[in-house]
Amino acid sequence: MLTASIVALSSLIVPLAVVEPARPKEIEQARSQPKPSTCDRSQFRVVLDVGHTVDAPGAISARNVPEYDFNLRLAKYLERRLIEDGFTKTVLLVTGGRARPSLFARAAKANGLSANLLVSIHHDSVPDSLMESWEFEGKQSHFSDRFRGYSIFVSYENPHLDRSLLFGRLLGNELKDRGLQYARQYTQPIMGRYQRKLIDPDAGVYRFDELIVLKGTQMPAVLFEAGSIINREEELVMNSAERLDLISASLRAAVKTFCNLSAPILRARTGNSATRSSAR
Ligand SMILES: [Zn+2]
Repeated sequence: MLTASIVALSSLIVPLAVVEPARPKEIEQARSQPKPSTCDRSQFRVVLDVGHTVDAPGAISARNVPEYDFNLRLAKYLERRLIEDGFTKTVLLVTGGRARPSLFARAAKANGLSANLLVSIHHDSVPDSLMESWEFEGKQSHFSDRFRGYSIFVSYENPHLDRSLLFGRLLGNELKDRGLQYARQYTQPIMGRYQRKLIDPDAGVYRFDELIVLKGTQMPAVLFEAGSIINREEELVMNSAERLDLISASLRAAVKTFCNLSAPILRARTGNSATRSSAR
């Protein structure tokens, strides 16, 4: 769940970055006619940020499992698969401690890693007002079967908004192609302060400026809610090998396309720095 603990409380008004128009054509072309890989996967660093900490584990599932456990398992699975694909610089970012300080710590750690992409892994819940009670294994527990699905968030305060949005769209499209639906409820007034603006109604990408892990990082970044663990049926699905595989296949495909689309930018950067250093 997107708890208040993962957002900045500051109400400073920061001028929004200029958003370049979406590039659906570029995405479509890259996905439908994959060219031979133009990016050097061994040099492309993906940071998989495990949402929350052992001490502040995020949401609690319908069956009383902390969200952190789901996040860690999925992130480890994705890490293995990306490394198999040749993204050998992939980093699993695990942060400890209390909720709020951990947010700044994880952004700082990510910034020190010279990363090309950050994906913050989470699992979703609902606002307390929507919870219902049930008994699970003799314990009074909470659930809500009302909503399900993944969702993707980008912050307009991330310095690479355009690329963040591009990756969010790629990931959402891959998930959609594999039959998954995104969570629609974030546009509804019933979500109260969790209500968000839907930026891409095809891919399920929402705008959430205040997320520290997105606005405080110096690389393209998205927050990915892989599915709802407060929904009793979806919690079981999220535990299945099939769903782990399906999410992993989607993310790997999105990372590969993103890497290819980023290659010209990365080459230009390397070229510039080479020119600068040779001029010295
Ligand atoms: Zn979370």
